[in-house]
Amino acid sequence: MTFKNTSFIFLFAIIAIGLWHYLYGISLWWALVPVLLYKAAIIYGSANIRSNFYTKVFCKGSTGEKLIALTFDDGPNAEFTPQILEVLEEHNATATFFVIGKNIDGNEELLRQIDSQGHILGNHTFSHSFFIDFKNKKGFTEELTKTMAAVFKATGRQMRFFRPPYGVTTPHLAAAVSDLRFRVIGWDVRSLDTTSDPEHMILLRVKKQLQPGSIILFHDTSAKTVSILKQTLNFAKENGFKVVSTERLLNLKAYEG
Ligand SMILES: [Zn+2]
Repeated sequence: MTFKNTSFIFLFAIIAIGLWHYLYGISLWWALVPVLLYKAAIIYGSANIRSNFYTKVFCKGSTGEKLIALTFDDGPNAEFTPQILEVLEEHNATATFFVIGKNIDGNEELLRQIDSQGHILGNHTFSHSFFIDFKNKKGFTEELTKTMAAVFKATGRQMRFFRPPYGVTTPHLAAAVSDLRFRVIGWDVRSLDTTSDPEHMILLRVKKQLQPGSIILFHDTSAKTVSILKQTLNFAKENGFKVVSTERLLNLKAYEG
């Protein structure tokens, strides 16, 4: 199910109902059925990152091996990103940080540290605004290029990985992403580490969902996640899971050149 063929089926249904109305006199109210189904499909496709509705989203590695990848959204965070980096270093693990452009100012050194320690930087828009999904293509292009420029200035890296805020994609976002040649990286394990759920519940949620090829979504924005990360890494080790980069797991290049 993609945006294109859903729209095609919708159009076909509307024409068919119009024809039946003309030929057999059926009520035009029947047109409400495809309209409502179309609306539902759009909402589902926009909100569900794994639906590949508007754009191809890489949510999982296709491997039978017990390889997994860690991702952290919403940084850089002067307080918690360094703590996450320390835990990763202790466990000799690598991760991908999807950074918000507006958080970069003053945290350039932190970006360089992420990069020099072998982790990947990805784009998570500039504003991460709650209303970002109402932007047009130009608006999204600005969001992406401003963050690209800030990361390039700090690290010399030209990012190619993008993660949409809230996991929501829209046709305008898809157009901007494709023009700028970004790869959209999703997840299959959502920890919900920013909720008020207690640590043990979040950890259990991660453990239950973990599979070969899994990509875990965390946020480098709280002490809770630092603690959950330690326990996740211990669990992974005890259960034979190896943490690799998203680049390796998905066999994609994270940077230009
Ligand atoms: Zn986010």
